[in-house]
Amino acid sequence: MKTRSGGHDYDGLSYVYDEPFFILDLFNLRSIQVDIDEETAWVQAGATLGEVYYRIYEKSKIHGFPAGVCPTVGVGGHFSGAGYGNMMRKYGLTVDNIIDAEIIDVHGRVLNRTTMGEDLFWAITGGGGVSFGVVLSYKIILVQQNLVDLVYKWQEIADKLDEDIFIRMTLDVINSTQTAEKINRATFNTLFLGDANRLMKLMNESFPELGLQRSDCKEMSWVDSFNPGSKLILVPPLRTPPTALLSRVPQWLTHLTRKSDYVKKPIPKSGLEFIFKKMIELVSPTLAFNPYGGKMAKIEASARPFPHRAGNLAKIQYATNWAEDGVEAADRYLNLTRQLFHYMTPFVSKNPRQAFLNYRDLDIGVNRNGKNSYIEGGVYGVKYFKGNYERLVKVKTSVDPQNFFRNEQSIPVYPYIRQQNKTSVSVWDRIMGVDSMLGRSSELCYNLKV
Ligand SMILES: Cc1cc2nc3c(=O)[nH]c(=O)nc-3n(C[C@H](O)[C@H](O)[C@H](O)COP(=O)(O)OP(=O)(O)OC[C@H]3O[C@@H](n4cnc5c(N)ncnc54)[C@H](O)[C@@H]3O)c2cc1C
Repeated sequence: MKTRSGGHDYDGLSYVYDEPFFILDLFNLRSIQVDIDEETAWVQAGATLGEVYYRIYEKSKIHGFPAGVCPTVGVGGHFSGAGYGNMMRKYGLTVDNIIDAEIIDVHGRVLNRTTMGEDLFWAITGGGGVSFGVVLSYKIILVQQNLVDLVYKWQEIADKLDEDIFIRMTLDVINSTQTAEKINRATFNTLFLGDANRLMKLMNESFPELGLQRSDCKEMSWVDSFNPGSKLILVPPLRTPPTALLSRVPQWLTHLTRKSDYVKKPIPKSGLEFIFKKMIELVSPTLAFNPYGGKMAKIEASARPFPHRAGNLAKIQYATNWAEDGVEAADRYLNLTRQLFHYMTPFVSKNPRQAFLNYRDLDIGVNRNGKNSYIEGGVYGVKYFKGNYERLVKVKTSVDPQNFFRNEQSIPVYPYIRQQNKTSVSVWDRIMGVDSMLGRSSELCYNLKV
């Protein structure tokens, strides 16, 4: 008798022999009962690994099982032979996550773990089932994909990946479909400049934990990667023609606030746990991590006023949208965003805490454009422009010495020149010779007054 489940025995022991034989084929014995509350499943021997993964996926997007990578392999042979997969280093083998089994023994009895005893249970969880009977099913423990590990791994690789890959990671809070509790979620939207086969290869090498499938990928031209109807930029396209890009009407209207931060080194796992906890408390603000590296790290920080080049792992966008009108709602949501910004302080750039000009944020400093405008400008200017701030002030002073073009966060002019309405070469030289970054700008003003 040959017992066959998935028929993947490398030397065909389940279906070839040099004497007459019959096959006990279990391919119809393939039911899979997933119990998400208990985080277990009863899996019959004739099921394939692909069926196991799919039935788990139907019930939960965060659970999995540490078995092999080929979906057509059968449970009967794979589990009984101690099959393993890509989560082995985290969770061990299939057999390390089996807690019960059913087997038909040589007397035709159907036994479970209790009735078969620990010796036989031990034997069929790694010793191959075929020597001991016919395994009917296994009870397995489901494992959870760990969000902290996944997010941490993204931080390790996102800025170092092939320059054709851009993986934006968004963290938010949603209601669990199983328990209605609030849970953290990470979403990975990817633009890859190449075909899906090369992407699969690169991702399997660099980020297998993400479990990217070929079916997750959609090949399209670059222009089709924009989805005018979505709140996200990088999502599969709607069936809208490229002419939809010509519409000047926003696809969605809401109240919003934004903030930014720069991440210089990976946030430690304990930090991620802390952030996830705080996000559950606050609920609204989401964090979108845009990976840097690649060409961004090769361009000099002074090439353009935008200074955030080499040394940045990612830029974070804090995003809060709300539908309710009124000041009260606005205050509430602004406050939630500020709280998350506050909690993030230990994990982001410091001295100064850097920011992105296009994520306009008046919280980081405001200019009243009075006599202290140069000092006030330094407060936000150095965050937006770092060492380029001084050159911007110089340009501004040269082209608009009266500060006609101004707003709450515009580039100010040098104080002496604005007040005196004249340019003095010696004063100018002196200004440029002083490091007026933040802490020293009052010293500069003192010098000028003298
Ligand atoms: C394409 C491919 C990819 C693979 N990938 C992996 C991998 O990622 N990780 C890994 O660990 N291994 C992998 N393997 C090896 C695979 O785990 C083994 O070949 C496994 O034994 C196949 O199980 P099966 O049920 O599909 O095979 P079958 O040929 O049906 O069975 C294999 C053996 O188990 C016995 N058997 C089958 N069902 C039962 C049962 N119900 N009760 C008692 N005995 C039974 C059979 O008689 C045979 O001796 C892969 C194999 C292939 C061909």
